[in-house]
Amino acid sequence: MNEKVCTEVRARLPAYVARSLDPVRRRLIALHVRRCAACQVEFSIQREVHDGLASLTAGADTPPDGLLESLLENTSSPRGASPLRGAVSGARPVLSVALLVAGAAAGAGAGYASWLSAKNVRRRLRR
Ligand SMILES: [Zn+2]
Repeated sequence: MNEKVCTEVRARLPAYVARSLDPVRRRLIALHVRRCAACQVEFSIQREVHDGLASLTAGADTPPDGLLESLLENTSSPRGASPLRGAVSGARPVLSVALLVAGAAAGAGAGYASWLSAKNVRRRLRR
């Protein structure tokens, strides 16, 4: 495989996975990647990076149900703080961001925590 072509193709892979290339270049790169194993590897890496960033953004908007409440319970006691920090650094990137967002929300004030527990009490009373 022509190395100059590979260099050209790889330089455009980020734009290719982000779908910001014009149709002609897209087609040329798609054709090359299909035939070139080395560029195929590079393409799948670029696609993973792109998808990872996309899911990171989406994940930050919607942390899993109940995560915020369990975090607020942990942060309210001093002993819960250090295992929580370990969980943040050890977790997958998406989860880390969710935890950090939730952590920031917890740090924003005890007012939110009391609002949450008030909500829980109301939910329990309704049952
Ligand atoms: Zn190639």
